[in-house]
Amino acid sequence: MPINTDEPAYEPRRISMGLRIANLVAILVPFAGLIAGGILIWPFGFGWLYIALLIGGYLTTGIGITAGFHRFFTHKSFETNRVVVFILGVMGSMAVEGPLLNWVATHRCHHQHSDCEEDPHSPHAHGNGLWDMFRGIWHAQMGWIINHKAPNFTRYVPDLQKDRMLRFIHVTFPLWVAVGLLFPAVLGGVITLSWTGALLGFLWGGLIRVFFVHHVTWSVNSVCHIWGRQPYDCHDESRNNAICGVLALGEGWHNNHHAFPTSAKHGLRWWQFDMSWLFIKTLILLRLARNPRIPSLERQRAAMRT
Ligand SMILES: [Zn+2]
Ligand SMILES: [Zn+2]
Repeated sequence: MPINTDEPAYEPRRISMGLRIANLVAILVPFAGLIAGGILIWPFGFGWLYIALLIGGYLTTGIGITAGFHRFFTHKSFETNRVVVFILGVMGSMAVEGPLLNWVATHRCHHQHSDCEEDPHSPHAHGNGLWDMFRGIWHAQMGWIINHKAPNFTRYVPDLQKDRMLRFIHVTFPLWVAVGLLFPAVLGGVITLSWTGALLGFLWGGLIRVFFVHHVTWSVNSVCHIWGRQPYDCHDESRNNAICGVLALGEGWHNNHHAFPTSAKHGLRWWQFDMSWLFIKTLILLRLARNPRIPSLERQRAAMRT
């Protein structure tokens, strides 16, 4: 990770009140969408179209976070062309997890200080009691998003800051959020030729999709630092959790990932299903990506716990 260690980890101040409110809205509105979608099944029913919009949107924007924001932009685990870089940036932005540079800076900070005091979202170090454990889970899942110190861009993302196209994707974040919410609404409306279809498309392909992408990716920060196996000695609490491994498109093999952060493949064993690696492998087969970084078997064996 290209980190400029001469700079401090965080900006001196916490994020502004306006940004805190915006983050709270981004957490609560998808939850409200889930409730509205559930209630509206009663008068309007449900159907394959909305399941397809939900799953299609989940995979598109989820892969944007896992293969895009995480494995490509944060860890440089493979190489690709500029068109794919742009598309990955847009897909990740539509997941509504913050602008590109914020996401990458926060995640590089997490790796550098994993489960220590400076870690932005560790579930640990909140105390030893049962209540403290719940506080830790809440903080790691979403509490940190509402009130956190801003990571220092000059320290964590000097490489991304230099790139004009990536700065463009970063500052146009609200546009991609809007596109990600309105596109399924338009599809729902056009396919059913009804306003009800547009509303249900907006709810299931937009808000409810954001709700699931949010909570599954955030579970990697909380669940995968508490429950699961630790085949590798990483000097932190990262764990492999099979449920998150499948639901979070391969990101739940999190102990593997902390052991080999630049690996394009997180599911290192044959049975560790890794959807994001399948996506990257497909890009490679289509000659749209190249040079994936994968640790050799010798390195993997050497890093095993004894
Ligand atoms: Zn982690
Ligand atoms: Zn990572």
